[in-house]
Amino acid sequence: MIEVSGLVKVYGTNVALDNISFTAGEREIVGFLGPNGAGKSTCMNIMTGYLSSNAGTVKIGGVDISEKPDEAKKLIGFLPEQPPVYGDMTVIEYLDFVYELKGCKYNRKKHLDEVCKVTRISDVKKRLIKNLSKGYRQRVGIAQALVGNPKVLIFDEPTVGLDPKQIIEVRNLIRTLGREHTVILSTHILSEVQSVADRIIIINEGKLLADEKTENINRTINESSRYMVKICGPQREVLEALKSVSGVTHAEVSSEREKDSYTYHVESESGYDMRKNLFFAMAEKQWPVIAIEEESVSLEDVFIRLTDSKSSDLKAKGGKR
Ligand code: ADP
Repeated sequence: MIEVSGLVKVYGTNVALDNISFTAGEREIVGFLGPNGAGKSTCMNIMTGYLSSNAGTVKIGGVDISEKPDEAKKLIGFLPEQPPVYGDMTVIEYLDFVYELKGCKYNRKKHLDEVCKVTRISDVKKRLIKNLSKGYRQRVGIAQALVGNPKVLIFDEPTVGLDPKQIIEVRNLIRTLGREHTVILSTHILSEVQSVADRIIIINEGKLLADEKTENINRTINESSRYMVKICGPQREVLEALKSVSGVTHAEVSSEREKDSYTYHVESESGYDMRKNLFFAMAEKQWPVIAIEEESVSLEDVFIRLTDSKSSDLKAKGGKR
């Protein structure tokens, strides 16, 4: 449904996209993951025809966006980072305006009622957009993308600025939309794509780092477990003892200190729970363990693990790709 090939975008001397290629199939939800400044918005703006590229092509349903922009754009519903909603219009006036703008040829009332129903904004249809909560306003933004029933939906950071309840609602909505549409959503939050996307594309500094099924990324993340451990005892000796606990692959001291206890970050072998060994090893020395907490894996950790596993794959293959 979407074919992106060799995209390059340069702003002055800054290479925002460096040869990005990927595809997305019908009814697939693809998560575009990367830290701020990675190039996600630039890529999405090119894919939706709002920005031109220096090199490369984007095809939507086989139609090249730079050759036939009007035809390709009809297949896309776009929610930019700043939703293009007009505060002084009511929700229904605004959707009516978008309907005109897109030159839709459905039964207008039926189509807009359906769009409002799916995005669950029917109860605020007659309210001014500026008086809506951020969560509702975001759903109006998603509704305008759905007008015309495009096959492809592209959402740039759709949950930024929402509260936890609104985030769950928008994620559920995206999952529902993925049953009928190809959805690409960008985010800088790992758990966000893990919870909705079938596939995750990771970009950093304009380069594509990974393009994997979500389950494969999860496996990479789960390969080792990281714990935050608080132990009362002499820092240096505790650290040495931690390193020799069976199953521990790495241990380091954190800067945190609380009375006579220090905090440590401890990593364990894949699939091995070393917590009991750690507890007994410290008990033997009479150093009380006052906390063990599993640490969530950050986006940076994923980058490091993916790049590490790529370079070890390369080494295993004798440096050949
Ligand atoms: P993301 O959406 O992942 O946060 P962006 O696509 O917004 O990343 O930005 C990628 C890079 O391109 C950044 O280094 C950013 O500063 C730069 N950039 C984005 N838009 C412009 C612009 N209009 N002019 C110059 N540089 C830009």
